[in-house]
Amino acid sequence: MADAIVVGAGPNGLVAANLLADAGWEVDVLEAQDVPGGAVRSDRGVDPAFVSDVFSSFHPLARASPVIEALRLEEYGLRWSHAPTVLAHPLPDGRCATVHLGLNETRERMERCFGAADAAAWERLTSLWTSMDPHLLHTLFTPFPPLKPAAALARALRADGVLRAARFMTVPVRRLAEEEFTQPGAGLLLAGCALHADLLPEAVGSAAFGWLLAMLGQQFGWPVAVGGSSTLTQALVRRFESRGGHVHCGQRVREVVVRSGKALGVRTADGQAYRAGRAVLADVPATALYGQLVGWEHLPSRLREDLGRFQWDFSTFKVDWALSAPIPWAAREAAAAGTVHLGADLDELSDYALQVTTGRLPRRPFALLGQMTTADPTRSPPGTESAWAYTHVPQKITADLGYDSIAGRWDTRESEAMANRLERQVERFAPGFRSRIFARRILSPSVLEALDENLVGGALNGGTAAVHQQLVLRPVPGTGRPETPVRNLYLASSSAHPGGGVHGACGANAARAALRSQRLTGQVLPAVRSGARRLLHRAPQE
Ligand SMILES: Cc1cc2nc3c(=O)[nH]c(=O)nc-3n(C[C@H](O)[C@H](O)[C@H](O)COP(=O)(O)OP(=O)(O)OC[C@H]3O[C@@H](n4cnc5c(N)ncnc54)[C@H](O)[C@@H]3O)c2cc1C
Repeated sequence: MADAIVVGAGPNGLVAANLLADAGWEVDVLEAQDVPGGAVRSDRGVDPAFVSDVFSSFHPLARASPVIEALRLEEYGLRWSHAPTVLAHPLPDGRCATVHLGLNETRERMERCFGAADAAAWERLTSLWTSMDPHLLHTLFTPFPPLKPAAALARALRADGVLRAARFMTVPVRRLAEEEFTQPGAGLLLAGCALHADLLPEAVGSAAFGWLLAMLGQQFGWPVAVGGSSTLTQALVRRFESRGGHVHCGQRVREVVVRSGKALGVRTADGQAYRAGRAVLADVPATALYGQLVGWEHLPSRLREDLGRFQWDFSTFKVDWALSAPIPWAAREAAAAGTVHLGADLDELSDYALQVTTGRLPRRPFALLGQMTTADPTRSPPGTESAWAYTHVPQKITADLGYDSIAGRWDTRESEAMANRLERQVERFAPGFRSRIFARRILSPSVLEALDENLVGGALNGGTAAVHQQLVLRPVPGTGRPETPVRNLYLASSSAHPGGGVHGACGANAARAALRSQRLTGQVLPAVRSGARRLLHRAPQE
């Protein structure tokens, strides 16, 4: 019997498994797919000469995460590679807003393109980041309540700084852009970053989310794993296996076995039972853990009610391309960037995001585009580009504003029409782009979910990143901690705080909670038992 069973070999599951194995636990990871990695996988499915990341590509969160840093994955084969420019947002007038590794270059280019005032404002935003570093990341990446890092953060900001920082953390990115910048470039960079999640430019907290991603890029870059995202997963698996752990693929867990309010193990779809002596950690969505893997009869009715209000994030539509040559950007500076954001101006981003929020499929989809060979030359033959782009689409489509009558069936006709729409968006900023495509793969929301069932309806963040489902409100109002109402069962996926992205913190929080609970049990139970023994022993004489 293993000490722990981890359900799901996504990055959170694998980080959790590593931490438990480090503590000397015997751990089995059960993964439904034929390969581990969850949404951190690459393959040669578009063209044999091209490596394509199937889901996530850019890993600033992994690079900055104290959890992943402590695993020293470089010793297990992980290497990072950077594009010359971190991020670009080309404008229709030929200018291009960019983020670079290091403030100096970002500031200098911003001054050249958008003027000294905006460059100075960007520097102020960088100073705020520096004043919070590293306490902000530690606050985000530790379990609730993050007492020590939050206290360190408050000390670093001082009393009046705390209130200003609180305002900054809630202000919408559109408002921040109006307050700080005179030109469109910097605001577009931040708004585009906020749209990696489901945060409209008008959403509470969208400025802070966008700023966090941009500042991570400026400090750490947005690196990619050399050879493809699978090499990050392989490093996690290799490290885990070197400590005696086992990953079992093709093993879909159907049930968490619960007796007397305690998780005892799991049962797989093919009927196999795996017992867990100490803990079960679930790298699955909250909506799959509660009510599906664990029956409602084992859970408080209040949880069922709260989970009924759980909000998924936007759905995702992605296309991977093999290109015969680099993308011919009208704004030449975009050619050096790993990631390129495509949307003409802030109003276009707002329209797009509001349309997705209200169920209407946008005619002009805001796109996030990855130039993977630019970021890592091993991805495709010299002179070519392995690229992808994705856009968010509504979870439930009520109207198609693009005149293709896409209803969300995502059959071949709908998928191809949407892929063509995404390509037209690229073509707007890079005339001649489509003539360079010689192979493409379409990953519609239903295909994404078939490849990783955590991507429910194509959602990529394990639930909305909006403020009403963050911190102690994630996944439902509670403690923001990975413990569940069932003893020895922990929620380890991005449905838990701090949410989506490849940083491993959700898995690490769950593993630490399991270890702490066993330590407490190890201290309290022997004490209770010896107390009971003493009482029993003395009873006859008293
Ligand atoms: C298209 C796309 C692009 C993205 N880009 C980025 C990016 O560039 N940078 C970034 O930081 N993040 C990115 N993300 C988000 C990031 O990949 C996820 O937030 C992250 O992978 C979540 O990790 P996880 O371990 O919680 O879940 P997942 O990675 O989804 O893994 C969950 C695993 O559990 C398995 N599983 C589920 N149910 C069961 C079951 N019942 N039994 C057994 N196994 C089960 C699944 O098969 C899967 O392997 C992207 C996501 C997508 C979809």
